[in-house]
Amino acid sequence: MLNQTVLALGKKRSTIREIFEYGNRRAAEVGRENIFDFSLGNPNVPAPDAVRQAILDIAGQDPVAVHGYTSAQGAPACRKAIADNLNVRFGTHYTADQLYLTVGAAASISICFKALTETPDDEFIVFAPFFPEYTVFIEQGAGAKCVIVPPQPKDFQIDFAALEERLNEHTKAVVINSPNNPCGVVYSDETIARLAGLLNSKSAEYGRPIYLISDEPYREIVYDGRPAPFIARAYPHTLVCYSYSKSLSLPGERIGYVLVPDVPGFDDLYAAICGAGRVLGYVCAPSLFQQVAARCAGETADLSVYAENRKLLFEGLIAMGYSCVKPDGAFYLFPRTLEPDDRAFCERAKKYDLLLVPGTDFGAPGHMRISYCVQTDTIRRALPLFEKLAAEYK
Ligand code: PLP
Repeated sequence: MLNQTVLALGKKRSTIREIFEYGNRRAAEVGRENIFDFSLGNPNVPAPDAVRQAILDIAGQDPVAVHGYTSAQGAPACRKAIADNLNVRFGTHYTADQLYLTVGAAASISICFKALTETPDDEFIVFAPFFPEYTVFIEQGAGAKCVIVPPQPKDFQIDFAALEERLNEHTKAVVINSPNNPCGVVYSDETIARLAGLLNSKSAEYGRPIYLISDEPYREIVYDGRPAPFIARAYPHTLVCYSYSKSLSLPGERIGYVLVPDVPGFDDLYAAICGAGRVLGYVCAPSLFQQVAARCAGETADLSVYAENRKLLFEGLIAMGYSCVKPDGAFYLFPRTLEPDDRAFCERAKKYDLLLVPGTDFGAPGHMRISYCVQTDTIRRALPLFEKLAAEYK
């Protein structure tokens, strides 16, 4: 009749979706301005002017070309512009032929999982806390196994002993997401170097490469003047999965890419990425936004509001006695909940119309995710409510 696995997935709403709908119901009762919805990772700053200008310019061109199909991997000129931009920024030597344009990072990572999976015994290692869709893409999308490394809550850098225990001959790839959703950690140069060293030695031991899938939609959202290390430079067998959803504030336009490394066996690896795109039904990335991305690859939205929000929220919560690792990137805070049961804590927060996501959903119980891509005034007005909530536990 129906595929029972996907039926169950379709019926089970994600916690974030539940919270979103709860927020809509409450907004109808008490007014939208009285709901403090910190659940969604939807950028709240506008796309840069350059994007608007590019859309206008491109829309004035031949509509057949603007809106037509492109080759599956993306228009060559757009791929070249994006490769050139990467080379200028990171001192690399990528070519257009290494890029495969996608409908956002979600597509990029699912394509990589599909391309690398040979048998149901294949394993992908992810680090908690992680983007919850990883398990769906790995297990249901690719039919492989998702192996979880528990969180290291003191700083959310990699727990190498736990990683080493999980690496074995079935490991196809290790998945990292730095800057991270939901905890905001940016892996240090030291962490990246140690990871590269470990993967090199394990690859040598197994006689084949273990890939690194670097999911980096938040690459440009970093604080205190510290850029995120460009991971692909440290480990050659890295598949970079990127999107313009966050850097250009274009999440609904669905545009991103997979950057395929120029390693031995490149032709087959790139062909497998193209094949996985076919299997998953991705015909080509949106033509108009391929061109927008090509023109605006060096731009970012004005991200200063995130820095302001991070400071206000982080310092405010710490002063109230919450404990939280200071995030170096992305636009989330991931404090500990004030009781071990994070679901119960987030339920209790609803009393103050604070909408928070339990850490359990990200593989890290005892935490809550607070998305601070909201108006700064929302944070200002929410802080006294966080204080009242904390007072309940004193
Ligand atoms: N990976 C992570 C870690 C994310 O947080 C998100 C979206 O929030 C995605 C992937 C999917 O991004 P996109 O909108 O580009 O598909």
